[in-house]
Amino acid sequence: MAEVTLPPNEEKELALLEQYAAATKTKVLTSSYDLDSKDKVMDEMLAWCKEQANIVVLKSAAIISSEPTSRTVQNCKSLLLSKGIHPGQVYAATSALVSLLLASGGEEESAKKQKGETTISFSDQQRHLRDLVYEAVLQSVSDIHIQVRQTYTKIRMRQHGELRVYAEWSEKLGREIASVAFNKETDHATSHFNPLIPQDASMPLKIHGKDIRLRLASVPAHGGFDMVMRILATGEERTQTLDQLGYTQQQIDIIKMAMKLPFGAIIVAGPTGSGKTTTLASCMEMVESAQKLYSIEDPVEKVVEAATQVPVNTEKEDRSFASMGRAALRMDPDVIILGEMRDEDTAHVMVRASITGHLVLTTLHTNRATAIVTRLVDMGISPVLLSDSSVLRCLMCQRLIAKVCPQCAIPLRNSPKHQPYLADWEAVLGTEVLDKAKARGNGCAKCNRSGVGGRIVVAEVIWVDEEGRQFIQKCDTLNWEKYLKENGWMDFRDRAIDLIQQGICDPFDAEKVVGPINPLTQARIFKY
Ligand SMILES: [Zn+2]
Repeated sequence: MAEVTLPPNEEKELALLEQYAAATKTKVLTSSYDLDSKDKVMDEMLAWCKEQANIVVLKSAAIISSEPTSRTVQNCKSLLLSKGIHPGQVYAATSALVSLLLASGGEEESAKKQKGETTISFSDQQRHLRDLVYEAVLQSVSDIHIQVRQTYTKIRMRQHGELRVYAEWSEKLGREIASVAFNKETDHATSHFNPLIPQDASMPLKIHGKDIRLRLASVPAHGGFDMVMRILATGEERTQTLDQLGYTQQQIDIIKMAMKLPFGAIIVAGPTGSGKTTTLASCMEMVESAQKLYSIEDPVEKVVEAATQVPVNTEKEDRSFASMGRAALRMDPDVIILGEMRDEDTAHVMVRASITGHLVLTTLHTNRATAIVTRLVDMGISPVLLSDSSVLRCLMCQRLIAKVCPQCAIPLRNSPKHQPYLADWEAVLGTEVLDKAKARGNGCAKCNRSGVGGRIVVAEVIWVDEEGRQFIQKCDTLNWEKYLKENGWMDFRDRAIDLIQQGICDPFDAEKVVGPINPLTQARIFKY
């Protein structure tokens, strides 16, 4: 998922709030994590706060405002005193958080008013859903997890690959939001949400002028159900270049060389959620306008003018990746993009397209670049065919590592929780690398207190040469990798170490992707 940078006016708001917070020795509240989860919105003040729109009062009498120095805060204090309530501390908060709190406050109030009859009007829940999604988009969240159980709903958000508790709602609100999402907002609102069976759908939302696209999935669970909303497009991302994503210049040169080939396959591998689609989109930008480009996608996430985008319906046999790929082959294409190679059928379309003189780009689930070959053999493509010089040309595999927030990162050697591992790292990486390395800090307003400043791609890129084809024919990935390393190829581990040295990634985060970095795992032979 691409980074969302704050618009300039929101940057300015944050700066003003920081000033206020520093003066009052408080912190700027940017999300519900910053609040005591038991402290709810004060119902008596809600109607008045909603009118002001920039302020909210909690049950503890704490006042939260996006304009903490404004007249509204003074008025609010007077109003509280007139009700016999002593006003509490005033906190600076982003306007996004204030509007979210104002919306969440409505829940109890209207639930009480209606005593569980028909439920709140649909527009209220639709607004609630939008507030939740908008908040997620602002915080570069990739997935919203809604866990509905008998007595509560837990909302968690995955940000930079990590799951964090975001809020707790009533069970009822959780159910309502889930059914409104499925029944009112999805593309084919024909499907009726049933928490007792697994369901999935895709959903376009227009929020504050942005076209946001989500994919919904649900499964039944003991005592309730889980629903996950994956944010596919935030409506404002420009296609990032490979350089911005984290590919090295050398890797980019190889990919560019491959994109100029008249035929052959370029495969992007990686686990789910590693940004393969984003990389495909960046490659798509390199296709020359004189070439006819067909892109088979499920679903079409972002409109690209230079391509004919063909949507897939995986539920219908005649509209699968393979069928649509075969159909595109009859349309006199130069370049075909197969969004995902999920099955044998699609793998055969990839091979056929390459050997009939087309450039094919596709993605596959594997953990290493060399493993693409074993996976394809597994899918029923013969090694002899794979080693044909018109089939595999460029193999890529990518994963994402969290970057430290540059604002609050600290030198690695000063971080207390990294101390026990310094000796191991130093033994493998050397003193110089460690001197330059950084660790995640305690977090600041800029990074929502996470210490993380987005994610970066680590990739392996292989140009399939004559020697490589010999290894492919024998399915000998071990010796192939050895050969590649001897010729200066960078694998995940080399690239991750590079990023540690540049102070971009915390070694703990790098280890999540490449495994423990210590002399034992480094050794060719494990001594017991
Ligand atoms: Zn920070």
